[in-house]
Amino acid sequence: MAKYSSKINKIRTFALSLIFVGFFIMYLGIFFRQSVILMSIFMFLGLLSIIASTVVYFWIGMLSTKTVQVKCPNCEKPTKILGRVDICMHCNEPLTLDPNLEGLEFNEKYNSKKADS
Ligand SMILES: [Zn+2]
Repeated sequence: MAKYSSKINKIRTFALSLIFVGFFIMYLGIFFRQSVILMSIFMFLGLLSIIASTVVYFWIGMLSTKTVQVKCPNCEKPTKILGRVDICMHCNEPLTLDPNLEGLEFNEKYNSKKADS
């Protein structure tokens, strides 16, 4: 189960890495300070990446309002479920809101639209 992680955590990791990528690109721009245009491009791309991360963080905020808070049966900590199946944020226990899927092996596919019908 270690290869899965909670969806919200995944998106959060993505947003965080965008910030680092942004700063890294800006840092690369320093090496091109002889050319104002090149440096500006790097600074702009870096800024763009940081703005994108802000957008993703905002998106997480929107998603969080759609999650269902449950108490994990495994570690007894409160965690959030997004979609039909998700993973406990604390212990990676697969969780489901759909009784039909209970006991089945965890599968990300259950979140696809096909599984909804
Ligand atoms: Zn748990």
